[in-house]
Amino acid sequence: MPIYEYSCQDCGSAFELLVRSDTVLECPQCHSPQLAKQLSVFATAASTEAALPMAGGPCGSCGHPDGPGSCALH
Ligand SMILES: [Zn+2]
Repeated sequence: MPIYEYSCQDCGSAFELLVRSDTVLECPQCHSPQLAKQLSVFATAASTEAALPMAGGPCGSCGHPDGPGSCALH
């Protein structure tokens, strides 16, 4: 589920919301619907992690020391 970061344009507070289809977007402080959507810190962290090679060895899929294609699965 996506988590979005918002800042309230009425009172200026910043907060994160877990947004579902039935989520009512409003400020938890003043209940204003005037929110400015920020970049999702959750999605940014996830994509950064996915772009990095897996730790453990040359084979990115399983960590086999002889590299990709050397193990039974890859
Ligand atoms: Zn507010």
